[in-house]
Amino acid sequence: MRAIYQIVATDRVSKKGLAPLREDERFAVTRFKDSSDPGFGEALAKAAGLIVRSATRVDADVLDRAPGLRVVGRAGVGVDNIDVTAASQRGVAVMNAPGGNTISAAELTMALLLSVARRVTEADRTIHDGKWERSRLQGVELRGKTLGVIGAGRIGWEVAERCRAFGMDVIVYDPYLPADRVDELRPHLVTLDQLIEGADVISLHVPLNAETKGLIDADALRRMKKGAFVLNASRGGVVDETALAHALGEGLIAGAGLDVFETEPLPPDSPLLTAPNLVLTPHLGASTKEAQVQVALEVARSIRAALALGDLSPAINAAEISRAAGLS
Ligand code: NAD
Repeated sequence: MRAIYQIVATDRVSKKGLAPLREDERFAVTRFKDSSDPGFGEALAKAAGLIVRSATRVDADVLDRAPGLRVVGRAGVGVDNIDVTAASQRGVAVMNAPGGNTISAAELTMALLLSVARRVTEADRTIHDGKWERSRLQGVELRGKTLGVIGAGRIGWEVAERCRAFGMDVIVYDPYLPADRVDELRPHLVTLDQLIEGADVISLHVPLNAETKGLIDADALRRMKKGAFVLNASRGGVVDETALAHALGEGLIAGAGLDVFETEPLPPDSPLLTAPNLVLTPHLGASTKEAQVQVALEVARSIRAALALGDLSPAINAAEISRAAGLS
């Protein structure tokens, strides 16, 4: 049987993760390193599906070069590199893979937490500098401390479960939980003020939007416990970086760990680079072998269902497309 649907996958999307499409004879998958590869444009012109990670920009121009395109899949969460409005106008569904990164992002958060609490990265640096500073590098235990989770969705709750295994108590602030989750988490739910003032570790797992931008600002940092740690592996901008650098410098809080930044890569003049007790990683939350396979699998399954069964329900622009098609 000749394949009915041509799928173009670029940005080194995991080959293993594309199995649901590669093993289905209705689909022919062509992989490219990136969109500058020879042959990409020609393949795109015939594609019904396009799968990208974060490098390829899917703008109006790219969409116009793919007249048969019906679905764009992002093997990952953020769709900043896809012009969703332009896609909706052309009736192209946009699908991402929101669950595939969850465990990797939660584990990276734990890595930040343990590094900050036991000063692992700082200790490592001193040894490489030929020093042996055992007394200066005293840390704190996690057992018996309170974790405050802001945003108890997929990643936030995985972090909470891991911290509970470390003997921590968990409190949660999340005003948008679905009703069943509210019932489940009720014993843990607190107000934002209670969380900020009561937690020993504050971990952020929220989307970036007008409400969460600068959620942790100078005022919040001033109200935290002096021994508090702040962790952000969600989105840059949720924590005010200048205020955080100041709070660390002044000893208003004890430490912080950040995986995401207002501007990425972090500019060389960022005040974070000279702030004490701060562990920084370059947006590594989803950077594991397993997550890359998982996100590709998730998006490949969605694309297969979209093209073969017409199931557009996972599309982030499902409502706009059906409106454009006069279906709602
Ligand atoms: P999710 O949608 O499952 O959970 C987000 C939670 O935040 C939801 O429960 C929602 O109700 C809550 N929320 C929304 N607005 C809030 C507010 N104003 N105050 C408190 N809670 C609020 O998302 P997720 O998959 O858990 O991802 C969480 C964040 O992590 C997202 O920003 C995502 O982009 C980011 N992320 C980062 C990496 C990384 O590489 N560092 C990897 C994956 C995801």
